[in-house]
Amino acid sequence: MRYSTLEERKQFYTEEFSSKKAVEWFKGGLGRTKFAVIIGRHTKIYPLKYKQDASTTIIIDEYKDFEEVRQQILDFLPEACYYDRNVYDENAQKVGQELAFDLDPENITCPVHGTLADKMKRQQGLSFCELEFGMIKQEAIGLYAFLGGVFSQITVVYSGRGFHLHVLDPKAYLLNAKERLELARQAKSAGFHIDEWVTSGEMRLIRLPYSLNGLVSRIVLPLRKEELERFDAVHDERCLPKFLDKEAIS
Ligand SMILES: [Zn+2]
Repeated sequence: MRYSTLEERKQFYTEEFSSKKAVEWFKGGLGRTKFAVIIGRHTKIYPLKYKQDASTTIIIDEYKDFEEVRQQILDFLPEACYYDRNVYDENAQKVGQELAFDLDPENITCPVHGTLADKMKRQQGLSFCELEFGMIKQEAIGLYAFLGGVFSQITVVYSGRGFHLHVLDPKAYLLNAKERLELARQAKSAGFHIDEWVTSGEMRLIRLPYSLNGLVSRIVLPLRKEELERFDAVHDERCLPKFLDKEAIS
């Protein structure tokens, strides 16, 4: 897995990105959903005109329809696209927040490669390891079951590295900060390697499904629960952007 170039990002958002599927993700309509991009914070790859803002989180909240969002993405050519899980009413007041869990292999200790700190020392921090991926996938399956005791509308999304679990039950949108933190702590003490910030709501941005993860050149992909066990992030065509030379993927 590797970074996407600017040209590849452009090709992806021009020819391949499915606005239709991205919009369908927001079943209740876009409403006042805010989007966000990061142009080149991690990759240091950015259009020259955005050098000053390469590491900034840029919010996209002025648009008529999703096509205008896509046009802005095409202008920024970002390494990553997100949406804001906060739900706002017509007066721009926050009325709820989608509940989400972020499972990232970065937080896992690999039996071969060790901890993230070990990998950073060898400059393999973001490298893909099938063992770690398998472990985080098993955690996604386990977390789905864990949450299934309380919630019924759970969707799993492959993020390009790990998995996000989105909880779409109406009651989940209304949880307060304390209840979210409590859920995060419960999941952690059950052994899941989640990012507490995401679940507690402090980090309210989450990757936009069907967008390009430019750090690894993979498409952010919602999966059915039944597909999870056999999902293969290296070979599954649905998460491989066209610009990757498929022959070269082994
Ligand atoms: Zn490893």
